Amino acid sequence: MAKRDYYEILGVARDADEKEIKRAYRKLAMKYHPDRNPDDADSDNKFKEASEAYEVLCDANKRGAYDQFGHAGVDGQAGAGGFGGGAGSFSDIFGDVFGDIFGGGGGRGRNTRGADLRYTLELDLEEAVKGTTVKIRVPGHVACEACDGSGAEKGSRPEACGTCNGMGQVRMQQGFFTVQQACPTCRGAGKVIKNPCKVCRGAGRVEEQKTLSVKVPPGVDTGDRIRLSGEGEMGIEGGPPGDLYVQIAVREHSIFTRDGRNLYCEVPISIVDAALGGELEVPTLDGRVKLKIPPETQTGKLFRLRNKGVSPVRGGPAGDLLCRVVVETPVNLTKHQKELLEELQDTLTGTNGSDHGPKKSSWFAGVKSFFDEMKF
Ligand SMILES: [Zn+2]
Ligand SMILES: [Zn+2]
Repeated sequence: MAKRDYYEILGVARDADEKEIKRAYRKLAMKYHPDRNPDDADSDNKFKEASEAYEVLCDANKRGAYDQFGHAGVDGQAGAGGFGGGAGSFSDIFGDVFGDIFGGGGGRGRNTRGADLRYTLELDLEEAVKGTTVKIRVPGHVACEACDGSGAEKGSRPEACGTCNGMGQVRMQQGFFTVQQACPTCRGAGKVIKNPCKVCRGAGRVEEQKTLSVKVPPGVDTGDRIRLSGEGEMGIEGGPPGDLYVQIAVREHSIFTRDGRNLYCEVPISIVDAALGGELEVPTLDGRVKLKIPPETQTGKLFRLRNKGVSPVRGGPAGDLLCRVVVETPVNLTKHQKELLEELQDTLTGTNGSDHGPKKSSWFAGVKSFFDEMKF
């Protein structure tokens, strides 16, 4: 389902300021609020649409992300507060805009909106960083073809409920008060099906897997959600469908770990490169780059490759790639290599031996003062 542009929904210019956006939204919300339009699906949708647009455009961060990436940049956040659950949450979220205009919100009678669905989408790090389009199969319901979604066997139609005369609601006298309740016979539907469809057993819908194409914007991370509006379970008795939330889970990578916008990796180097300095090839998500290692590099030193990290999905500058150098002890040495190392060792433990091992000398100094202070 294609979503309309948020500015278009609110009827404001793209450079509209906060005041104009607030004013436009207030006007629409007053017009379409469910409390003023009970059981009107069209108003309900318009209200939700306007609320979602406002929620994004009134927040500088979300608006920025939307301006840059469109719906993909803000889906998964917008509406997460839950407009689908009924009007009750309305005054909580927009209390600052409306005060008590609508009072407590109040219920909207029967809930015919389809259920929201959640789908966990596993991605490789590269896909999450660069964005991708994936086809997913989700379980769902579609309108039953045999009965055109009515639930009644071909040739028959659902009939108006006799108890409530098709109103779905009955009035009950309770003491001095008349209260309205959902009709017990048709459970608020207003219709009864005398001859249910054999294919869907009167439900009007059947289970069917559907294939959806999910556009994953670049920069997403584990925990991000992409909302596919209207792709959840179909509504009951003409109610609007629920939404599908695609939850991102990024698989572990063999080389990189990610922390927000930064990437980390370990780079092994030889003791010779570490001591004399050299040039290494290190991997980035865009291919290999050269990294200069200065002489006397120690294990654990971090080298920062600017902007080789991740561009966050909600906007902002790209992060960095941080390469942690690990000096490797050589293995499988030949006799000659061992002799060379021993020869080297003899020169290192000469008169000024401590100058060659900065950590070792300070470590020994620490141990010495530790024992001195114990005063044996
Ligand atoms: Zn009824
Ligand atoms: Zn059917």
